[in-house]
Amino acid sequence: MKKVAVIVPCFDEEEVILESYRRTKEVLLQLQNPTEIIYINDGSRDKTRVLLDGIAASDPMVKVLHFSRNFGHQPAVTAGVNNCDADIAIIIDADLQDPPELIPQLLELQEKEAANVVYCVRKSRVGESFFKKISAKLFYRAMNYMSEVEFPLDTGDFRLIDRQIMNEFDRFKEHGKYIRGLISWIGLKQVPFYYERDARLAGKTKYPLRKMLRFASTAMLYFSKKPLRLASGLGFLAVLVGLFLAIWFTLGKIYGFSNAETGWTSIITIVTFFGGVQLLTVGVLGQYIGILFDEVKARPEYIIDEKRNFKEDTPS
Ligand code: UDP
Ligand code: MG
Repeated sequence: MKKVAVIVPCFDEEEVILESYRRTKEVLLQLQNPTEIIYINDGSRDKTRVLLDGIAASDPMVKVLHFSRNFGHQPAVTAGVNNCDADIAIIIDADLQDPPELIPQLLELQEKEAANVVYCVRKSRVGESFFKKISAKLFYRAMNYMSEVEFPLDTGDFRLIDRQIMNEFDRFKEHGKYIRGLISWIGLKQVPFYYERDARLAGKTKYPLRKMLRFASTAMLYFSKKPLRLASGLGFLAVLVGLFLAIWFTLGKIYGFSNAETGWTSIITIVTFFGGVQLLTVGVLGQYIGILFDEVKARPEYIIDEKRNFKEDTPS
């Protein structure tokens, strides 16, 4: 019988964590398979830590990783996968937006299709702001335009992955991880599963605009060199414009069809335009150099403070 693990990243989820555990546990009890839940406490500042320790103390099937601080959603999921020894893992959010009741259906589909990945596609999203929906829609489409691999649309990290995918995932050395993209990139047999996304049970989103932008830029920059190409394209265009203007004004001076002396407006326009193009292209270059800087340092992606119910458990 295949062992199934549910991987749940949690950051300041005191309002939902107990209900989330209760619903997930109920579903897992219906399965014949050996099961476990791995919670990754991503440096929560509220009672999440204490609550998770309580759950782990009463239920040996629950494993907990406590990060030393907030490292982010993607490092939390990464730690979950790296520390998972099950045959099948299901990555799910703590806030019950992705219903744990779907887990048996995911397992069934995986079995039927002999799939390596079952990725969950959102047919609809309940209770999310218009801005979140529209930005997500645009983002996934822009990603496909920018990226060198094709990603499934409207798909988050809610998915089932098998041991083969986890083994490959553990080999990724890059530190800025866009997990849903990396898993698509691995290939093998990946099948979609359509579902309705619920509203968050309680509490606020842990993805404020700042984190969303950082997430989007990691996705773009790690999966595409197109921004660099666009930047050089823009530079090339600017050179053409400059060349055209130079010829136009020179000829104008000779044949007297442009009065270049009164050209304050054109000078300011050109200086601003070229200044802008230069800063923009240098900025794009800078983004990639920044990534190189981070990757060359090769710091660990996350620091684990304590583990609960793992074999090499740190005693409390
Ligand atoms: N999360 C995390 N670290 C973070 C931000 C979020 O572990 O820095 C977790 C969070 O607890 C939740 C999941 O990632 O389980 C998705 O976050 P959230 O539901 O707030 O994002 P949204 O659904 O609003 O995009
Ligand atoms: Mg959510």
